Formats: sequence, C-alpha cells, structure tokens
Amino acid sequence: MASLALGVDLGGTNARAAVVDRDSGEILAAHKEPLRTREPEAVVDTVAHAIQEAADAQGVSAASFGRLGVGVAGQCLGSSGVVLNAPNLGWRDVRFGELLERKLGTPVRVANDLSAAAWGEKAFGAARGISDVALVFVGSGVGSGLILGGKLHEGAYGVAGELGHMKVRPSRPGTAVRRCGCGMEGCLEAYTSGMNISARVREELAGGAASRVGALVGGDVGRVTASVVDQAFAEGDDYARALWEEVAELLGGAIANVVTLLNPARVILGGGVVLGCPQLAALTLAQFERQVSASARRGLSVERAFLGDDAGVIGAALLE
Ligand SMILES: [Zn+2]
Repeated sequence: MASLALGVDLGGTNARAAVVDRDSGEILAAHKEPLRTREPEAVVDTVAHAIQEAADAQGVSAASFGRLGVGVAGQCLGSSGVVLNAPNLGWRDVRFGELLERKLGTPVRVANDLSAAAWGEKAFGAARGISDVALVFVGSGVGSGLILGGKLHEGAYGVAGELGHMKVRPSRPGTAVRRCGCGMEGCLEAYTSGMNISARVREELAGGAASRVGALVGGDVGRVTASVVDQAFAEGDDYARALWEEVAELLGGAIANVVTLLNPARVILGGGVVLGCPQLAALTLAQFERQVSASARRGLSVERAFLGDDAGVIGAALLE
C-alpha cells in the first residue's frame, strides 16, 4: 500500500488540500475551496474542511497522516506556526499553526508557500537530486524558496528567502519610490510582481503615457496585465520596451545576486509573470548573465518549474 502524506497550499483566495503518494509524488486526491472571509478562525475552518474532503476522497481519515504540512503565502515564523505577515490574507502575527492543530487534533507543520514549492520541486520536480537550489517565483508576488546542503533553508526564525522584499530602489527625500504590500518602500516586488506591474501601467496610461498597451486592452485599463505588456513589447512598443528593460534589470540583477551569494547548482524559475511573458523572461535571463559573478555561474543550470501549482501542496505534504 502506498505511503501517504497530506499537504495544504493556502493562498489569499483558496485553500487546496491534497493526498500525496510519498514514493511517487503523485496527487491521489485533492480538494480546493475558496476562502469565504480571511478572518483566521474562518480560514482554519475552511482549511480543515478541505483536508477532510481530500482525506474522504482517498477513503482515509485525516488523523491517519500523523502530521500535516501547510504552505502559506506569507512570512512564517518557522515551525512555530505563527504567520507574521501575509498581505494577501491581511494577517499580522496570526497563530495559525496552533489554531489548526486545535481544530484537527493533529500536529501541523507550517512553512512559507515558496519554501514548500522548492521542497516539492526537489522531491519530484526540477530540482530532483540537487542539494543547492534557489526557486525564484515571479507571479502576483515575488519570492524564493531555498534549499542549501540538501535541507530547506528557512533561516534562524523562518523568514529567509524573502527575495521580493530586498530593496532595489533607495528611498531618498525627493525621489519617488514605489510602496510595497509589505508596508516598506523600494522592494523588488513593488517593481516586478504582476500586480504591481499592472498597477503601474494603469497609473502611467492614466497619466498620459502613449503605448500599444492601451489599444491591446481596448481602452479598458482594468484589463492590463504583464502579459499584455509583453505582447506590446513584441509588437515594438517603446513604452513596453523601456518598462521591460527596467523590470528585467531589477529582476535579473536580484537573481544574479542570489546566485553570487549562495552558489546554488540550480535556479528554478516559476510564476505567471516569468512563465507567461516570454519577452520579459528572455530579457531577465540576459540581465542575469550580465550581472552574475562568473565564478558562481560555473556549473549552474537554470530551469523552469516542472510541477506548476502542484509544487506547493506536494512539498507541504513532504515537509520535515
Ligand atoms: Zn516589500
């Protein structure tokens, strides 16, 4: 009989629970449930219900897993289960692990969602068999998951790898610096995440910037996304070119600095902005090559994420 584990991926809009075969990484049963509110007790109820549904679909009891793993889109205080800051959930200092354990009567391991995704990619995806890995995710947010010496690297208190909140624009009096969802200014995420790119383009079009983007969305700036900017770039639009050069320089430079600092054997790129914007991805890789230390670049391979949205639940299920 297969050895089973259960993982949960908790984002800002959905909780997804999955029963995973520990030996193959296959998802045997899964249940996804939208969050009705983001109030912690209500989210705990939703997560517990998703777990129950996934376990029922597999014909096992939730208690039979021993320990469950949950990847949360936010900054998590390591294995204590405290979520320090989760902008998409509107949470600050929520004792999520404790609340969920009390609800389920089962031990729960909480980690950042990208740490969980990196662990999943290491077990069954693009980092299989590799001990030093940086997974870089650029989607609605920006972040990373790190595996160093074969172990998940969460730092002293669980918040290592917060790539999106490294400062890439100095905040000086008299300069306009973009504010980030974390509350600080000048973060990489404020310049390169899908949500922030869309917000900036909307602002600039409303402020009179001339771009093909306006025509591509039929004049409805609410439809602006990073992939529309990518299309405008491909059609030779000057505005899109200038924006993509700036974003690629920041993103490629940040990834290069991660590689220069940590010397991983593999970088895994994932997230809708990287995977859905081929022009931006190519420019970012070119900037990465320009900025990375040549010694750290030797022997490094760059791959796309294999497991997609499944990496988080698979990794959460297998967390140690
Ligand atoms: Zn930030």
